[in-house]
Amino acid sequence: MKKLVTLKKDYSIKLNSRMTKDQTPKYIYLPIDEKAKIKSDFLIKKEQRITKNRISPVSGRLVGSKFCDTINEKAVKCFVILNDYKETYQKRVASLKNITEVSLEKIIIELKQQNETEISEKLKQCKKGCTIILNGMDDEPYVANEIFLSKEYSFEILETLDALREKFQASSTKVIIKCNDRDNIENFENQIGTYTEIELSILPDYYLLAEETFLIPYLNIIEPYLILKPSEIKTIFTIIQKKRHDTEVILTISGNGIENPQVIKSKIGVMVSDLLNQYIKIKKNTEVIYWINGLMKGKEMDITNLIVTKKMQSILIMKKEYVEELECIRCGKCITICPVGCNPKKAYDTKNKKYILNCIHCGLCSYICPSKKDFQKILSGEKNEEEVY
Ligand code: SF4
Ligand code: SF4
Repeated sequence: MKKLVTLKKDYSIKLNSRMTKDQTPKYIYLPIDEKAKIKSDFLIKKEQRITKNRISPVSGRLVGSKFCDTINEKAVKCFVILNDYKETYQKRVASLKNITEVSLEKIIIELKQQNETEISEKLKQCKKGCTIILNGMDDEPYVANEIFLSKEYSFEILETLDALREKFQASSTKVIIKCNDRDNIENFENQIGTYTEIELSILPDYYLLAEETFLIPYLNIIEPYLILKPSEIKTIFTIIQKKRHDTEVILTISGNGIENPQVIKSKIGVMVSDLLNQYIKIKKNTEVIYWINGLMKGKEMDITNLIVTKKMQSILIMKKEYVEELECIRCGKCITICPVGCNPKKAYDTKNKKYILNCIHCGLCSYICPSKKDFQKILSGEKNEEEVY
């Protein structure tokens, strides 16, 4: 019953073809995640671990603390680091080794030690002889992080993928790209000849709705399998081969409320408002809202004190529209589009949850509804359930 879906998009929203690199934020804000006592004026090197979970993306000086918001929490106390723009690195403790020389077991342990638990678990759970899939498809309209990352790091991605293929003795290894990602199709086609065991598969402009396993029946793959994103492969490369830390994120900043949609490589800990002031031009006389991490699965947020964290992927700046929920016109779109066979309209009308038992909260029914029914809030329980069900 699971299905991949295509979506209508506003093709007037176009991303700049070049990625912007924000190298010069004046201040960095990092949440204080334990009772750390660090004196002000403490000198910090780039990639220095300040507390168990916080690594500085710049070199500079600790100048105090401030309450900031993250995607998941409001008013979190953060260190404030003043950038000295010298990019003085913390010394590497381990000697460099090519990823091919590091055992799978060591890779898994090292990733876990560096707090990359999700990737470490994925590798740990996977069995030898599996199919490895590099899923290069971005999964939200107007977001292109994986596309830009693949363009920028295709060599590192293919090297690491090939090394994993060998370590898992993979039965097959596939790179999956959408048909409209022309740059990467050309890029991978040009390089893939060197990696004879890796195949390129080009898919229609489908959305997987954060359920990568939807790919498996579509590609006729049998278990076991390992699905990794280009960003995850790049993290493996950075930690294992470069012995460095990922202190930057790729962010798509787009939407119909701005003049210059683009993808920005930003340091973790930058204040979102500083980033937008420097690079983004809001359309004249336009009232906008800020939608963090996608129109389908993300949420509207106040960005006044919001900082960039590792989990932030996109900021969609949309024209504020005063929309009212209208009467259902019985078009059936919410039912047809649901990837797992739910009937959100019937659940809404009858107040009965049995019609949405398999809901994966992908947000598609709200996204598609011409009458602007806000199913997402109801299905994810943000509205008072007594009221609705
Ligand atoms: S959010 Fe809507 S479209 Fe998505 S799975 Fe749930 S009911 Fe189906
Ligand atoms: S998509 Fe909206 S208008 Fe169409 S049937 Fe569903 S609730 Fe009604």
